[in-house]
Amino acid sequence: MSGFSDRNAIVTGAANGIGRAISDALLAAGGRVVAVDLAEQDLLQHFEGRNNVTCLATDVADDEAPEQIVETAVETYGGIDFLVNNAGIAIGGPFEELTDEQWDLIMGVNVRSIFRLSRAAVPYLKQSDAPRIVNLGSIMSDMAGPNLSIYGASKHAVAGLTKGMAVDLGRFGITVNYLQPGSIITRMSEPFMEDPEFKAYWENKAPIGRLGEAEEVAAAAMFLLSEEARFVSGTGLNVDGGAIVNF
Ligand code: NAD
Repeated sequence: MSGFSDRNAIVTGAANGIGRAISDALLAAGGRVVAVDLAEQDLLQHFEGRNNVTCLATDVADDEAPEQIVETAVETYGGIDFLVNNAGIAIGGPFEELTDEQWDLIMGVNVRSIFRLSRAAVPYLKQSDAPRIVNLGSIMSDMAGPNLSIYGASKHAVAGLTKGMAVDLGRFGITVNYLQPGSIITRMSEPFMEDPEFKAYWENKAPIGRLGEAEEVAAAAMFLLSEEARFVSGTGLNVDGGAIVNF
């Protein structure tokens, strides 16, 4: 795969898990990264002192975040080629116990922030000769799981938003796609995996027979960002060991 050298990327949720693996892959391939996360300590611990990476500690759901993030990228690196909307949260519980506050929080981080940051980045993406947006959906963009109805709704919304963006932004040469990871070993999935039954369910659900790793999702993100994926737009790519087709 090619097309990463000297490209400027914004990666949200870059301090841990999948976002960190995507940032590392981009840096290793010669790209430059604005690493955005609200966990400032985690960001600094991983990226401080490294070349071609600028850390920005902010909450992507804040009203002023899109302008702040885009400005940082443009002022530091002169433009934006790739936007990876990865930051996300998974809060769950039995449907009848879920709250309005949880709805607003999850939708704010997982969906609204993607809409707002992408909109702010479009004027700069238009100036790139290989502009790409990759959003983090989930296996839950297509299916449902127990106690995750708001999270699932947010990830279905990511799929719909991605498709609409692909239609509207294609005329500028911008490709827009989403990833659909299955169960991946990260800090997000850790609390769920403490339940041995839940863990065994997901290990068995994937015909490959195990949970996934953040680097395996990053490899799929790199494909969608690559030069070779220039005609791929509006699609979701499963990275789930085959779980979603295993009825
Ligand atoms: P993670 O918790 O390991 O990392 C997420 C990072 O995002 C953290 O560093 C966190 O601080 C940051 N973040 C959270 N809210 C933020 C906010 N409001 N502003 C800025 N940063 C914020 O999670 P992960 O597993 O790497 O998940 C990354 C993405 O992948 C999410 O969108 C998630 O929904 C999706 N996903 C994960 C899995 C999985 O099994 N881990 C499966 C499917 C989809």
